[in-house]
Amino acid sequence: MLKEFTLKTDQEGLYNITAKVAETVKASGVESGIAVVWCPHTTGGITINENACPDVPGDLLFGLSKAFPDRAEFRHAEGNSAAHLKSSCVGASQAIIITEGKLLLGTWQGIYFCEFDGPRQRKFFVKVVAS
Ligand code: ZN
Repeated sequence: MLKEFTLKTDQEGLYNITAKVAETVKASGVESGIAVVWCPHTTGGITINENACPDVPGDLLFGLSKAFPDRAEFRHAEGNSAAHLKSSCVGASQAIIITEGKLLLGTWQGIYFCEFDGPRQRKFFVKVVAS
């Protein structure tokens, strides 16, 4: 099962997509397998991190911006090389184990679409594979 989602982003940010992934797994009827969450964009990504404290996503973005600041030496004409660096650092996908029909996430884990170059109209995909 492959499902496509659209996401309109306002600005750089982490968008919690855990419920959409969980709904896709439930609709698939798969009891045991893998859910792959895929971002087809070069200035976006998918990550898994804390969903309890609302400050964590902001701190992640702050830390990434410190690690990958805009630099005058960048040559990419679009002017968003820092966003490309963040995208490669975070990665384009995550794979989550499905057991007993549910995502095997830790208590404090959520799945986030990472926007490093908004506002944009984005897509992400969820592929559910039975094993
Ligand atoms: Zn670019």
